[in-house]
Amino acid sequence: MRVIRSIGLLGLVIGLYADQTPYSFEQLKGRKNVVSLVVIGSGPAGCTAAIQASRLGLDVVMCDGPQPGGQLVETGEVENWPGIVRARGAEIMDAQRKQVENHGVTIIAETVKTLDCAAWPYRIQTEEGTQLSALSILVATGSAPRRLGVPGEQQFWGMGVSACALCDGRFFKDKTVAVIGGGDSAIEELLQLTPYANNLHLCVRSSAMRASQVMQDKLADVEHLTIHYNKAVQDIVGDENGVSGLLLRDAQTNQTEKLAVDGVFLAIGHEPRTALVQNIVELTPQGYIKTIGQSQATSMPGLFAAGDVTKGMYRQAGVAAGEGQKAAEDACLFLQHIGLTPPVIKALRSGKRAIEGLQFYSK
Ligand code: NDP
Repeated sequence: MRVIRSIGLLGLVIGLYADQTPYSFEQLKGRKNVVSLVVIGSGPAGCTAAIQASRLGLDVVMCDGPQPGGQLVETGEVENWPGIVRARGAEIMDAQRKQVENHGVTIIAETVKTLDCAAWPYRIQTEEGTQLSALSILVATGSAPRRLGVPGEQQFWGMGVSACALCDGRFFKDKTVAVIGGGDSAIEELLQLTPYANNLHLCVRSSAMRASQVMQDKLADVEHLTIHYNKAVQDIVGDENGVSGLLLRDAQTNQTEKLAVDGVFLAIGHEPRTALVQNIVELTPQGYIKTIGQSQATSMPGLFAAGDVTKGMYRQAGVAAGEGQKAAEDACLFLQHIGLTPPVIKALRSGKRAIEGLQFYSK
């Protein structure tokens, strides 16, 4: 309640200030499932924001999304989460989820289908049919590993094709695998495969890697590694047992050749999950949600963004969590500014009708 209390007196009477703005609380009359902050996504950014917003006195609903816990759940050992020497990503996210629940946040195991910010309060509809009226929103939908879009990729996904060496590397003990990509992620993936695979290929589509020199230097110690430059994947081939090879096209000669492999690990970058906000907020030229200055605010007032959906670098859970923390504070300030105050929230939470017909979300 720290921040709220500081300007709480400003808006003690609902509507006194807010009725003169686009954020009139009169508009909430008759609405059901009104929520002060809806957090979309349950990775480190979403969970941290939900915890912090709840601590600041807001009622919060967190929508899980298609991958509860986010990408960290698919990560093996994590050694750079503050305060934890070493733990599996899934364990860290389990603990965060419990913390979210302990703070009274309502978690709904649903995926947001549409977001309508044409008028305030913003309307959210989930694929499962739940409708929410959000006074503010945090988009923490993360990013997804980019796909090649070649024949065989989808067919053999999980049968030799993967985007997570930490999760799936152990299935390739004494096998031959190829990593696709030339960035830092590709080298990281490759290094994670060295305890398992006995034959490694790195397929780079251009004549040089994009990876930092410090990462490229690490390849010098990798045994049984062949680096293929100018090689683009044209096809992933296999049979009912899974992947058996790659068809590679040489970018210079246009010749194709087959490379026999048992597994293919994609590390060709990530795509931010911005489908929900494509036409609502300003995006960067790379397609990430643009945040304003040092805040987590976006070009849409009351809509905030945090974590991997906001940038293409610093893809670290700790950074996402920090942004989530900031976003919660930003959302809290926004709500204070439009007149949502502790007495109002309290009244709404306790079921008193602060505004005729207004109902806050309940499970
Ligand atoms: P990058 O965008 O840096 O690299 C993507 C790589 O994939 C490039 O080599 C690119 O080739 C290649 N690529 C893209 N599309 C295709 C395709 N269709 N077929 C074949 N190859 C393709 O992404 P990363 O995920 O590697 O890194 C993202 C950010 O995260 C970077 O800032 C990186 O530094 C950081 N990071 C840092 C790490 C660390 O420091 N330990 C670890 C992991 C990431 P091309 O160059 O030809 O476009």
